[in-house]
Amino acid sequence: MSAKLDPWGHYAIEDYRKLLEEFGISPIDKILGLLPHKHKYFERLVIFGHRDFDIWLEALKRGEKVAVLTGFMPSGRPHLGTAMVYEELKFLQSLGAHVKIAIADAEAYIVRREDRSEVIRRGVEFVAHSIAWGINPDNAEFYYQTAMDNEYYRLIQLFSRKITTAEMEAIYGDINPGKIMAALTQSADILHLQLDKYGGYKYIVVPVGADQDPHLRLTRDIADRFEQELGLKRPSSIYHKLLRGLDGNKMSKSRPEYAIHLDDDPETAEKKLANALTGGRATAEEQRRLGGEPWKCSIFELYVYHLIDDEKELKERYDECVNGKILCGQCKRIAAEKLRKLLIEHQKRFKEVITSGIAEKILKKPSF
Ligand code: SF4
Repeated sequence: MSAKLDPWGHYAIEDYRKLLEEFGISPIDKILGLLPHKHKYFERLVIFGHRDFDIWLEALKRGEKVAVLTGFMPSGRPHLGTAMVYEELKFLQSLGAHVKIAIADAEAYIVRREDRSEVIRRGVEFVAHSIAWGINPDNAEFYYQTAMDNEYYRLIQLFSRKITTAEMEAIYGDINPGKIMAALTQSADILHLQLDKYGGYKYIVVPVGADQDPHLRLTRDIADRFEQELGLKRPSSIYHKLLRGLDGNKMSKSRPEYAIHLDDDPETAEKKLANALTGGRATAEEQRRLGGEPWKCSIFELYVYHLIDDEKELKERYDECVNGKILCGQCKRIAAEKLRKLLIEHQKRFKEVITSGIAEKILKKPSF
């Protein structure tokens, strides 16, 4: 495991325990009792770590204003990894939190060098998919970074004054002007909500994949440095494990053949599953004798993250695998059927959201 996490990289993180130690992320299992109600991601430790999420939960309990901020870089089509963040937002919203979502068009333009008009078009789709997944638009705001106003951009200028290149290198490793700009813009995304103009929320939580922790470390440092001047407070964060692609690497929008996209037709998705990396043995005889290795299996990961809600059913699937009672071909067919159902239902809702025009209406377009 490298000493640096790369939020713009494409690798999967193997050892989450090491991540907790190395970067000082707190384990989530110690604070599960503070959650007002359960969610499978917490129960299964898919969300494995946090920074100050207990402080956020206590503020929620006291009835103080709490908010959630996250961002999506629309550099491809949303996939089941993106849907993990939708799922977390839906859960946090169900606790009563206000949700704000940045469409990171500036970052897609700067870091991924994407065509801006295409990015703007995709932003609407990301919003429509989030609503189709279950995010309530009545308690959510969505914005393009480049549609924000002067106060937000003023924050980026102010932040740049108190951050050195050496600090950026220590956090991100390889850095260039574009990445510095993108990182400070993300800090403005997270912290602008604390300004009175944007609601004055002091307790912000950011749900992200583990690879995004560098942005949180930077933003927390910045908040400390601007506490006196701007009244900023450190944001909290929760970290989920990355859903691996079907080849075992990080599921990425830029490697579509190894990701299940939310707009994949069920037949395409089924073909992708058929070629997925599993924890199966070399031969059927060996698998019956030794059992499979679900902890290495991208299909089992789909069960855990998206396809099986019921704990008993998940345990049965696990036991059948490790006891060699099921072979991967059959197991993939079960997963494909569940996935087909999920995609058909989601796509039906997506179509309704698009037809209603709500995503277009609530996402203010940049003026230039
Ligand atoms: S039986 Fe299923 S869970 Fe087990 S390794 Fe094969 S595909 Fe994965």
